[in-house]
Amino acid sequence: MIPVCEPLLTGKELEYVTDCLKTNWISSAGKYIAEFEKGFAAYCGSKHGITTTSGTTALHLALAALGIGKGDEVIIPTLTMAACAFSVIYTGAKPVLVDSEPETWNMDVAQIERKITPRTKAIMPVHIYGHPCDMDPIMDIARKHHLYIVEDAAEAHGATYKGKMAGGMGEVGCFSFYANKIITTGEGGIMVTNDEKVADRARRFKDQAFSRERRFLHTDIGFNYRMTNIQAAIGLAQLESIDRFVEMRRRNAQLYNKLLKGVSGITLPKEKKWAKNVYWMYCIVVEDDFGMSRDDLMACLRQKGVDTRTFFIPMHVQPAFKNMGLFEGEHYPVSEQLARKGLYLPSGSGLTEEQIKSVCEAVMEAKKSKGK
Ligand SMILES: *Cc1c(COP(=O)(O)O)cnc(C)c1O
Repeated sequence: MIPVCEPLLTGKELEYVTDCLKTNWISSAGKYIAEFEKGFAAYCGSKHGITTTSGTTALHLALAALGIGKGDEVIIPTLTMAACAFSVIYTGAKPVLVDSEPETWNMDVAQIERKITPRTKAIMPVHIYGHPCDMDPIMDIARKHHLYIVEDAAEAHGATYKGKMAGGMGEVGCFSFYANKIITTGEGGIMVTNDEKVADRARRFKDQAFSRERRFLHTDIGFNYRMTNIQAAIGLAQLESIDRFVEMRRRNAQLYNKLLKGVSGITLPKEKKWAKNVYWMYCIVVEDDFGMSRDDLMACLRQKGVDTRTFFIPMHVQPAFKNMGLFEGEHYPVSEQLARKGLYLPSGSGLTEEQIKSVCEAVMEAKKSKGK
């Protein structure tokens, strides 16, 4: 089976982790935390990096550090990973949805403004599947309405918008280091920001909100979102390879594009002129004239030893939110279509040319077998 995604741990991961174990620095203090935070923030062009236990907790921490809470609203795309909506709900605020736009599958900028109310505090653009959002108009809207931007760049390490790094443009940018992301720490996340006050609050909140003056005195509700030095050791080694991983992902996507461009009935991923797509996942949309449904194609590929995944299920159809009375009667046609027709092919940085060729052959064979 060609897996959808596997991490590559071929750098100094083992050396750095061994160093943690040998020196007893296995918890959340230690030099790898400091070096990884500094290094990753610099990579994004940001002043501060605050590591967390996951991308989800990075999003929650960012919102909490910005003071978002009960009675507030945060605008997110409906086609995203549930962590976006969850993190908003953890703060007591309400997620408000917009549809995707059909080309890049990112949040449709044209729909944001009509969702703004006096309670709106932030917009959370998600750089979906590695393609950056069109940030200039989003930043204009945010400026005009005095809203924060919390970028969810969990799928977009190294992606750029007009030369600017994904995650480095909003008040805060959040990343995940789950094993299938562009770089990994096993589990883990980070938020980056240029705002010293926000960074300060985040550092305090992630560490149980201990008061600076008197330990074990708490003036705020804190969390334990501390990454371990061992995770940061893996992260630092991964960071040393990040440029190579991004290049590998882009090269894989180019080969996929070349081999699949003649196949009718599938839409390939875009890269807008202003964007550098890191192709976290190589996504295709199986159109109705392909000859078989997305689900049938996935079953067919599985039989041929090719692992795939569907696109996300939009937030407005999730029972968890329906049960809370959220998003009742809301419809987002573009996201609904994408969720029905989208899938991703094997996308790990370490895929070989041979593997990509056999994935593409499997797609074409599937089409031939049913499509006549
Ligand atoms: C992976 C991901 C997250 C969550 O990251 P975890 O580390 O798994 O908590 C959040 N948002 C998006 C868009 C993601 O892809």
